[in-house]
Amino acid sequence: MLVQLQRALSRSLSSVVYRVALAMKPQVIFVLGGPGAGKGTQCTKIVETFGYTHLSAGDLLRGERMREGSEFGQLIDTYIKDGRIVPVEITINLLKKAMEETMRLDQQNFRFLIDGFPRNQDNLQGWASVMEDKADVKFVLFFECSDQVCIDRCLERGKSSGRTDDNRESLEKRIKTYLQSTRPIIEQYQQQGKVRTVDASRGVDQVFADVKALLDKEG
Ligand code: UDP
Ligand code: MG
Repeated sequence: MLVQLQRALSRSLSSVVYRVALAMKPQVIFVLGGPGAGKGTQCTKIVETFGYTHLSAGDLLRGERMREGSEFGQLIDTYIKDGRIVPVEITINLLKKAMEETMRLDQQNFRFLIDGFPRNQDNLQGWASVMEDKADVKFVLFFECSDQVCIDRCLERGKSSGRTDDNRESLEKRIKTYLQSTRPIIEQYQQQGKVRTVDASRGVDQVFADVKALLDKEG
């Protein structure tokens, strides 16, 4: 009798633990689109309205580039100026650490916008091997706009952003990388029915109205 009771107790306890673990599993939305499509701007608005945590892979890499004693600073610097994609071992570690730190500080913060990642097959494989069983990818939020709009916006931003890659030369390379490496990733997710596309060529508030409607429905 006692043994049965103990078993039943342990079963229900482990199911509680299981459910808590499930509830806390990080929920991820990948945010993709060309350079200057408005990923960062829209992510900031999503954070204000829906309380996600915004992690920009590019910002994390720029932070690591500046970090004193970083062994990757020089490499990251070169890759960013060239519009090339940094080896995933570096990026995935930064993302994983940022997610863990966020959840360590507050377990309620388990919903993440991962902005500007995954950008190529290497990124995708890195995610699969390090994070696939640790986090659920809900969908890809895709900000779609023409290359010309992307270029114009980044050149405008370059007047004040201080970014080493918001100039015409770097931009041409970034657009090329985006078309050759990132579009196929979006395509792959599309085939799995996991892409939500927003027309990003309009003004910030118009774009956000669509984003909000979408997240109200399935965020
Ligand atoms: N980058 C990278 N891996 C990533 C994200 C960014 O290598 O996962 C590098 C890449 O060189 C890219 C640059 O960081 O061109 C700037 O990325 P960011 O997402 O900040 O640019 P955005 O698309 O927002 O203009
Ligand atoms: Mg950005």
